[in-house]
Amino acid sequence: MNTENKEIRVRIAPSPTGAVHVGLVRSALYNWLFARHNHGKFVLRIEDTDVARSTQESVQAIIEGFKWVGIDYDEGPYFQSQRFEIYRQYTKKLIDENKAYFCYCNPDELEAERQKAWEKKIAWKYDRRCYNLTAEQKTKYDAENKPKALRFLIPNETVIFDDIIHGSIKKEPQDIEDFIIVRGDGTPTYNFAVVIDDAEMKINHIIRAVEHIANTPKQILLYKALGFSLPKFAHLPLLLGTDKKKLSKRHGALSLWEYKKAGFLPEAIINFLALMGWSPGHDIEIMTLKQMIDLFSLERVNKANAVFDINKLEWMNSIYIKNSNSEKLANELLPLLAEIQIKPEDHKHFLRVIDLTKIRVRTLIELRDMVGAFYLKEVQYDAENVAKYLTEQAKDYLKQMNTRFENLAEFNTANLENELRKLAEELGIKAAVLVHPCRVALTGKSVGPPLFETIELLGKETTIKRINNIVNK
Ligand code: GLU
Ligand code: ZN
Repeated sequence: MNTENKEIRVRIAPSPTGAVHVGLVRSALYNWLFARHNHGKFVLRIEDTDVARSTQESVQAIIEGFKWVGIDYDEGPYFQSQRFEIYRQYTKKLIDENKAYFCYCNPDELEAERQKAWEKKIAWKYDRRCYNLTAEQKTKYDAENKPKALRFLIPNETVIFDDIIHGSIKKEPQDIEDFIIVRGDGTPTYNFAVVIDDAEMKINHIIRAVEHIANTPKQILLYKALGFSLPKFAHLPLLLGTDKKKLSKRHGALSLWEYKKAGFLPEAIINFLALMGWSPGHDIEIMTLKQMIDLFSLERVNKANAVFDINKLEWMNSIYIKNSNSEKLANELLPLLAEIQIKPEDHKHFLRVIDLTKIRVRTLIELRDMVGAFYLKEVQYDAENVAKYLTEQAKDYLKQMNTRFENLAEFNTANLENELRKLAEELGIKAAVLVHPCRVALTGKSVGPPLFETIELLGKETTIKRINNIVNK
């Protein structure tokens, strides 16, 4: 809980350099839930100082992605690329106060030194050599237009901070390098820009991925050097694949849009991601956004890594689909069924088909296929099913059954079942011997929604036609 009396201000600060990673959505969600729970503000800041790697498409994808999953922001998007003048003012301050110095070293040469040390397994850090340059040397280098980066002079003090999730963390100054805050090309680095922006934007809780925990001591020293008051830090647990290795491409889709394409509902994705590190307690799993907001607290975020289990996401998605209003699902499905063209007069029928099928799918794509099968002109037959179920014997049974179906006065579930069972009894066979070939003949598949409801929804004409096609083949 917020014990201080000031407004909670949090942010998500994505770098727009690629796909909208599910880890980013998780971080955004936790910030958002924290803000909404505490009636605070949630800020979006685009960290696009890396001009070469940042793209407009990525910015757009992030903004649309948050919108799609229902994460709205109160301020922003701010763009770091438009704030260089602000960073420059702080650079000047640090230089004037002798808290930063120029480094004329060639980055490639330093990198080679680092690499060599690494191969020999020796710890290496920049040795501050440029701090001791004489005024003459600096004048000479400047006259030569030698590129120079600005380094932060790490003060000689131990950093200790209390991470809300990870507890007390301590770092000694000798383990921190005088890191670069402005590159040779004049662009600010992440650690520098992030501190200035978080301070200027009055962010008081930094909630982000645990990958940034190692940056935090550096940032804290900058906060102090610049005279800013410190925010609180909460580093979210690492996302792992089911093999307990850091979540990566090997584990499957990482981008939010890939999940959308695969037929996941935003509500399911959000519910699933909410549990990737946070436990509301009492074994609660399926939650509305409102419940998540009510229950959310950083104290209940785990330190332990979270396992991203796609099977669990599929299970959740199936529940969200099942609980979705069929009219809403119809809207989702129509664009996916574009080539089938459900006519307006078939809308009621369409909804009944969705009612019947939505309880047995994991994704919208599965639902589309199952629903689509009712309207396709040509059934997509699975060769294996045909070989197994549509034997000559079965075709003979189907022929007899078709005649009975054709003669039914009322083509409804109860009558259809009654007719099939009667025929099975007369033939001295189990009903299943008829049921399976009938399903395959009508849908191409060996599993699916309950057969007799399916037949009723297919309607007399389609049913008779499909079975005739098989029987006469
Ligand atoms: N731009 C950084 C990232 O995307 C932000 C990290 C932070 O939240 O401080 O990883
Ligand atoms: Zn140097």
